[in-house]
Amino acid sequence: MNLDALAAGVELDVSPLERIAHARDLWPKSTLALVGGELPPTPRAVAFPRHENELRFVLDWAVAHRVSVVPWGAGSGVCGAAAGREGSVAVDLKRMDRVGRVDEATATVRVGPGVLGQHFEDELGRQGWATRHSPSSIWCSTVGGWAASRSAGQFSSRYGKFEDMVAAMRVVAPARSFRTGQWAEGEDLGPWVMGSEGSLGVISELLVRVVRVPEARWLRGYRYPSVAAAWEAMRRVMQAELHPCALRLYDAVDTRIGGRGKGVRARGGGLLSSLLKSFDGTGSWGLSLPLSMPGVLNSLARWGGGECVLIAGWEGRADVTHVLCRHGHRLLRADGEDLGAEPGEHWYRHRHGVSYKLAPLFTKGAFADTMEVACTWARLPALDAAVRAALTPDCFVMAHYSHAYREGCSIYFTFVGKGEMDRYDRVWARALAAASAAGGTVAHHHGVGPHKMHAAARELAGAAPMFEALRRELDPVGILNPGRIFPPVEVDEPDAPPIGVDRVSMVATLSAQETAFERDSWLAAQGVCLRFPTSGPLARALAVPHSPWETPILGASALVGGKRVVFIDTPRSAAGPDPRAVLGADQYERVTVPVVDAAEPALVVRQLAADVRAARLLEEGWELRGPAAAELAQLCLAESGEAGG
Ligand SMILES: Cc1cc2nc3c(=O)[nH]c(=O)nc-3n(C[C@H](O)[C@H](O)[C@H](O)COP(=O)(O)OP(=O)(O)OC[C@H]3O[C@@H](n4cnc5c(N)ncnc54)[C@H](O)[C@@H]3O)c2cc1C
Repeated sequence: MNLDALAAGVELDVSPLERIAHARDLWPKSTLALVGGELPPTPRAVAFPRHENELRFVLDWAVAHRVSVVPWGAGSGVCGAAAGREGSVAVDLKRMDRVGRVDEATATVRVGPGVLGQHFEDELGRQGWATRHSPSSIWCSTVGGWAASRSAGQFSSRYGKFEDMVAAMRVVAPARSFRTGQWAEGEDLGPWVMGSEGSLGVISELLVRVVRVPEARWLRGYRYPSVAAAWEAMRRVMQAELHPCALRLYDAVDTRIGGRGKGVRARGGGLLSSLLKSFDGTGSWGLSLPLSMPGVLNSLARWGGGECVLIAGWEGRADVTHVLCRHGHRLLRADGEDLGAEPGEHWYRHRHGVSYKLAPLFTKGAFADTMEVACTWARLPALDAAVRAALTPDCFVMAHYSHAYREGCSIYFTFVGKGEMDRYDRVWARALAAASAAGGTVAHHHGVGPHKMHAAARELAGAAPMFEALRRELDPVGILNPGRIFPPVEVDEPDAPPIGVDRVSMVATLSAQETAFERDSWLAAQGVCLRFPTSGPLARALAVPHSPWETPILGASALVGGKRVVFIDTPRSAAGPDPRAVLGADQYERVTVPVVDAAEPALVVRQLAADVRAARLLEEGWELRGPAAAELAQLCLAESGEAGG
């Protein structure tokens, strides 16, 4: 391998320090291995391209020399997606860090893939704009990494996941360079590249949707007697079209550990808190005693009762925020106790800090990990119970629910176990199988990597051959992040999902081919109508106009190569690329789409006021629904000059 030839065209570092630093991301399994003295495979060199032409030079060199290339953002991934390969070249993109001027007319900005999240947000802030994409890793992850792993931020309930914010991308693949989204010429490969974890091409520039820096913010805490009561409150708020920026529920254990429960700090003491102090090293037990009896620990945790705390927040233009939070507060207070602003403000101030506290556990003989799954509201209790049952025999477990959508929600489990590799593998195998069996996605925002690739391949079984065909076209020699993302897996041909309406999640599973008349009459008989109306069969209307932060299709069954594939119905997932909307119209059998209650009163305005988010775009204008509709309509009419404000 002639590294001198490579060094002639791009900055290259072959020092042990850089190579080791690029050998692994933050997958807890690799941390566990490292603590056990096992070094990960190390790349041969690290390249730092500054421009797209230098990136092209690296890929051409790698193809000519048959060398694997691993794109590298900031290495904050937690599934091993950027892990090193022996003899590979890591391509660190952080020198490609240009942030452009916001185009105010389109509310978009061009940005290099290697910009660190916080730097991006800071620069946008100086221009008066923001993405409001706020993953806990914002200090240590890049914009390109967010797109490549379909990241979610803390304000996803209002702004969507990062894939919803990307309007276009430039991508450099070994065989050719191409553009996606608004920049695409011909077929748009965006849905395949997003979430492909560097295995289809290297994202070299992005066009990102931005919003004005919010003028007002409103945060508050609420206490509920049980998680089930709080889920119901969250669902009501999301389905009332109130668009909160944050709805963040902590289960009873997380509530108490976070010091959010009633009187927890004042009471202190107790066996559970003594044991839990071991986790931060301040207890007298050491870690091995509590972790050798996870069942006892979990039972003790449950004894404290089911009380849990929810943080809710709204932000945006002051008058709109004022309307939305007032209605939201009324709904949340119906079954919850108002704890005032402080719990919300406290969370906001510390919102990026908590994730960094788990690392020291590894040196004390434990492992700590997180698992993020998601599903529709109707399945949430079963998914929650199934994954807990899989984790608790081996680990101490708690959870929070932080990415709520109109149709469903994600669950974020945090678990701590004794630092043994076979235990780690066993726990994860059981938990992933449980999540799939309960109808959840195995990855809501952490992506796939080697960690979840078998589970993701099973989840998107029908997509794997299509992905492989595209990959062979874009990377015929197979140099880009080899082994990602879908290994071959055998799955039985699934049944098509049953036709029906799920009134809890407000979705309907319908034939994709029947006429609009048949479909709409049937829906009307069920008392609902399509959230994104269309006058043709759904199969031909999957690209109906919708807000970028909303999900037009939750699930689909389709025929690919004569075989049925089923993409599970979940509001969002990050189990690799999203093929739900890229099949040919005649391939779809059934689709699961959002619906609205036909009997609910609605108002239509011709023009939306800035910052008001409508439910539906109809021919006559934007339809506003829910308890805030009348006040929002007044704001819209006042702004468009159609009526007095
Ligand atoms: C403390 C902590 C908190 C976290 N919190 C969150 C959270 O709140 N939300 C969330 O979504 N995630 C979170 N994560 C996970 C992680 O930050 C995300 O997956 C993030 O998107 C990874 O970005 P990165 O730049 O570090 O990518 P890397 O880890 O460097 O790479 C991730 C994958 O993308 C590929 N890649 C990177 N850049 C490019 C590019 N330009 N083109 C093509 N492929 C590329 C890599 O090859 C790899 O396969 C957290 C992680 C940690 C450690």
